[in-house]
Amino acid sequence: TGCRVCLTRNMSSSPPRLQGCMSAWIIDQYGSNGVLKYTEETTVPTISSATEVMIKVHAVSLNPLDVAMRGGYGAKLLKLRRDPLSVMDNDTEFPLILGRDLSGVVVDCGSGVTHFALGDEVSHKPKVLSHIEAASIPYVANTSLSALVNGGGLCRDSSSNKRVLITGGSGGVGTFAIQLLKAWGAHVTVTCSQNAVGLVRGLGADEVLDYTAGDVVEQLEMMEKFDVVFDGVGGDTEEWAMGLLKPWSGAKYVTLVTPLLLNTDSMGLLDGTLNAGFSLQSKAIQNLLSSGVFYRWGFYAPDGPALDEVSKLVDAGKILPVVEAQFSFTQVPQAFQKLEKGHARGKTVVRVA
Ligand code: NDP
Repeated sequence: TGCRVCLTRNMSSSPPRLQGCMSAWIIDQYGSNGVLKYTEETTVPTISSATEVMIKVHAVSLNPLDVAMRGGYGAKLLKLRRDPLSVMDNDTEFPLILGRDLSGVVVDCGSGVTHFALGDEVSHKPKVLSHIEAASIPYVANTSLSALVNGGGLCRDSSSNKRVLITGGSGGVGTFAIQLLKAWGAHVTVTCSQNAVGLVRGLGADEVLDYTAGDVVEQLEMMEKFDVVFDGVGGDTEEWAMGLLKPWSGAKYVTLVTPLLLNTDSMGLLDGTLNAGFSLQSKAIQNLLSSGVFYRWGFYAPDGPALDEVSKLVDAGKILPVVEAQFSFTQVPQAFQKLEKGHARGKTVVRVA
């Protein structure tokens, strides 16, 4: 995951260009942890369009998606992005560097870049955080924001006293979403395991239910109904969570656990997308007609301006990074193992520089 630039600079040009090799963890095939390979011979990438920036990575955080992608999850959509018209003969994604979530320093900019400059800590990193802490935030922040705003219809100015239930509140997304929703003034109820109760309460959760003790659904059914359920667990959660929403009042269920990429991997792009779309639409219509609640899928979506807003909340002390485990760059396979074991309590981060 991630890459560490160990390179030389061409001293004659201005702005400085980067060249040489960098160290990286790559995969040449999909599989279990054994496919991760360390190399110091990965060519440093170059800026290929006017709007790109190059970042020297200082820290990366892992997400469940990285583990899934190591095993080939999403490979069909990845190929579509690389080669939309399927015109490349020997197209291959390998060697592939996994990872997407980082903190670092801008070392090169395309000619059209205006929002970033050489030397900037990105994206733009909260001033009060180290790179390790900052790397724990972007992916879960953009996922929470995209799902809560676009799926849940919430925002800074419309969340006051809204009742939100977060399932899976102790993980990477949950620990961020609790704090964001509290910063927006929502009332937050969380489900988590017994040994995470203190963590999520410390992050501001108003009500916390231990799903490992007794019947959590029964307890939730006795509570006042919710405006939004934000589901980070999936499985059968949707079967009972829909009934916890306020009927006929615009309440929304948003799940992050969707079959979209599994479908496209197993059925191909067209059939997989159509099948997922059909399943989404039929559930959405059924729930809307029966109880007037919205059924939605939430997705990560990159959003720079949203991250700038998050930076302000972090600098104001309203959102704290939750780093559960740190690994050195030589320990990337151990970091993957940690994530694969589950039971996250916030984020796992790898120090790169
Ligand atoms: P994590 O692995 O960081 O966290 C999952 C958390 O859920 C853990 O703390 C786990 O702890 C807890 N958990 C497991 N089972 C239950 C349960 N039945 N009830 C309550 N809590 C439970 O994952 P993330 O937070 O990063 O992501 C959450 C999910 O969302 C993942 O499935 C991920 O793949 C998906 N996701 C989807 C995105 C999209 O674009 N659609 C983007 C980002 C994430 P414990 O087992 O100890 O209780």
